[in-house]
Amino acid sequence: LVSRDNHPERSTVTVRGVPIGPDTVTLIAGPCAVETPRQTLEAAEMAKAAGATLLRGGAYKPRTSPYAFQGLGEEGLRILADVREQTGLPVVTEVVDAHDVALVASYADMLQVGTRNAQNFALLQAVGAAGKPVMLKRGMTATIEEWLMAAEYIAQRGNLDIVLCERGIRTYETATRNTLDISAVPVAQRLSHLPVIVDPSHSGGRRDLVLPLSRAAVAVGADGVIVDVHPNPEQALCDGPQALVDGDLEALAAVMRDFPPLL
Ligand code: PEP
Repeated sequence: LVSRDNHPERSTVTVRGVPIGPDTVTLIAGPCAVETPRQTLEAAEMAKAAGATLLRGGAYKPRTSPYAFQGLGEEGLRILADVREQTGLPVVTEVVDAHDVALVASYADMLQVGTRNAQNFALLQAVGAAGKPVMLKRGMTATIEEWLMAAEYIAQRGNLDIVLCERGIRTYETATRNTLDISAVPVAQRLSHLPVIVDPSHSGGRRDLVLPLSRAAVAVGADGVIVDVHPNPEQALCDGPQALVDGDLEALAAVMRDFPPLL
């Protein structure tokens, strides 16, 4: 269903009126985690200032350590919905458990499946049946074939509004958190008709790499970029070191502006 063999035209997925696909390069930005109403609104305003048309933000955080901040849950979803009201930015947020899909879908405009759940087939089937567009991160140890098969689980439930997100894979390199597999973008675009975006924040894990990796993503023909921004990263409860700050926004906007999509 997601193969380009049976569907030669590349698809556009529309999230509450915002297109992600071959005719545009969509910027999605926001906080890694929803912490407070004020922090989320400020991050959303930063996202808008950089030219973002969709707001990201995690209410359910899949953390490596069980002692790390796990997210605000439904309270975080309510904050995201309020910030959507205030800014007009549709909301992309992660769901980590099949039992929460209906709840998250009742607030979100797009459901995100994270790298750690990329082969959680029960979750993939549940989001496939939820009636909302889905952003599917690549599993950090998944081959491109496995990633596309994960998308197939969603599509099989009748939902073809799927955006693939390359977010770095685990390699022997330790200088970055994960290794951004930039070649995965054109490879996945050739194998599948689905849009492919890049997450330079979670792949590098370092603020200083976000702009260069965003540039690489846009130059290679990605259909969008999803980045973390935070009004005060030193105080962030999650992934502060990778969040862009106010001073980075103009440069980020320029990256998105200066590189038109490949034809
Ligand atoms: C995220 O985008 O908030 C996230 C946790 O990403 P990933 O699943 O790629 O680590």
